[in-house]
Amino acid sequence: METLTERLITWRRAFHRTPECANTEFETTKQLRQILQNYEITVLDTPLKTGLIAEIGHGDTIIAVRSDIDALPIIEQTNLPYASEKRGAMHACGHDIHMAAVLGTAILLKERESQLSGRVRLIFQAAEEVSQGADAVVETGILEGAQAIVGFHNDPTLPVGTWRAKAGYMTANVDCFKIEINGVGAHAAMPQDGVDPQIILSQLISGIQTIVSRNVAPYEEAVVTIGQVHSGETWNVIPSEGMIEGTVRTLTPEVRDLVEVRMQKLCEGLALQYDASVVLDYQRLTDGVHNDNTLQDMAWQVAKETGYDVQQQPRAQMIGEDFAAYRQIAPIHFAMIGSDSEYPLHHPKYAPNEAILDKAPLYFVNFVERLLKEYES
Ligand SMILES: [Zn+2]
Ligand SMILES: [Zn+2]
Repeated sequence: METLTERLITWRRAFHRTPECANTEFETTKQLRQILQNYEITVLDTPLKTGLIAEIGHGDTIIAVRSDIDALPIIEQTNLPYASEKRGAMHACGHDIHMAAVLGTAILLKERESQLSGRVRLIFQAAEEVSQGADAVVETGILEGAQAIVGFHNDPTLPVGTWRAKAGYMTANVDCFKIEINGVGAHAAMPQDGVDPQIILSQLISGIQTIVSRNVAPYEEAVVTIGQVHSGETWNVIPSEGMIEGTVRTLTPEVRDLVEVRMQKLCEGLALQYDASVVLDYQRLTDGVHNDNTLQDMAWQVAKETGYDVQQQPRAQMIGEDFAAYRQIAPIHFAMIGSDSEYPLHHPKYAPNEAILDKAPLYFVNFVERLLKEYES
């Protein structure tokens, strides 16, 4: 007889074969709906175009478990027999693993539905990679009244059977910025007739790096990375325009504000200094995932009871994760669970170890049951 893990692996491979990128997860949603319906699990009506929310149990207490479902625009290079059949799309972040794990949780919870002292909502959320999906779920209002929302990410740097989390920040506040410079173009031999945007660009690049080194306190954490710089077309012309684009990662609201303010001042200063237009477009994409203290204590116990090698996450990772948005509704908890792969997340050869599906569903079942008891009114 097929074990649950074997079944989950079959579904995971099916998801892996047919990846869909953010906001286009129509077939994935259909597949999920079909599997849930086969187990007579209720799928709630929502205005979500992709992704879905299922529900198990009865009562006032509501606990939610979240999986993301989207793939990345990457050409897969794993050569696995179940590699992506869609060139240019790949489950390279392991969201196929997340779906299988939460489906496993759903099936196990459905079996013990009559014993559940509340309701469990299973969120299969679209568009995590573009930081839009969690907000879309929150906006439906369907999670109002939830007491806790929990989730995980597979972590290829950890062995299978390892669980890691910490109280407070697990991931960073993620912002992006774009600075557009408008000077005056001129002949390369007649700089006196122009306002050279490249001089401003070069000073911006070094000036921006002083924000972390000179404005952020040494005991705080922040990253500013410039990802693209563009200006000019040829060797003998001073161009009129330039632009840079990059990302800022921080771990507190104060440092986040500080970096934005300093960047704005640098732009204003350079504009004044060189008589050019230097315009900053600064956007806050996602908040850092901030684990609730009480949930962290509970999750730690539950992970231990589930048989994980339980470890303290040493520090926040400066990556983004839109799971943070659920904190607008209820305390959240997010764990990293080992998936032991040679290649990192978002790599074209990323191949998580499917043995992660042995314990992950049970971890969430145990966690949810513990939470329902805790919050039972
Ligand atoms: Zn990702
Ligand atoms: Zn991911």
